[in-house]
Amino acid sequence: MPNWASGYVEVKGKPKDIKNFCKLFIFEEEEGKKNQIQKHYFARSFVYSTWEDFKKEELSQNPVGFAVDFAWAGGTCLIDGYPTEKDNKNCVTLDWACKKYNVEVDIQTEERSECFEEHIAYTKKGGLVYNSWNMPTKNCGICGNEQSFPTQMLDSLENEECYECENVGKWGQDDELQKMVREKMEKIKEKQNG
Ligand SMILES: [Zn+2]
Repeated sequence: MPNWASGYVEVKGKPKDIKNFCKLFIFEEEEGKKNQIQKHYFARSFVYSTWEDFKKEELSQNPVGFAVDFAWAGGTCLIDGYPTEKDNKNCVTLDWACKKYNVEVDIQTEERSECFEEHIAYTKKGGLVYNSWNMPTKNCGICGNEQSFPTQMLDSLENEECYECENVGKWGQDDELQKMVREKMEKIKEKQNG
């Protein structure tokens, strides 16, 4: 079993282009046989839905947003891992797919066992952007244990338990480095939304 990076993917573009782009992910009925069914796809990038359900539930929106699990990391699935291996002739990179289908994409991932996060984006203006960093850590105010949390969770740790002493929600303040990481993340978000 691989470790999974849980991702959230947002795609902007014309509905037909979005549809073609989304088809590159691996849907439930295609697991394990994607390379026999279709020419191009994103390696090891799984959507836990059938294509029919996905069309009904997700493709009616614009931009389209949905969850994808990447084996090990988003970067290795979409940028320079499996797609660039010689044997994976049918695996495409995100850069290729965004250009082919004329879409803009924003992806955030969280890998909770290795404790890293990724931000992957493609815009027509800025091209491909990839960042990865360690999750911020907090110290338990009771026993001092240091624990990693996804950045998105930092404002809502009141129900999170310390693995060491099992106290709930006793987490300390951000240190300077964590503040910097959060500010950087917020700026990236602002840039994309503006
Ligand atoms: Zn503790």
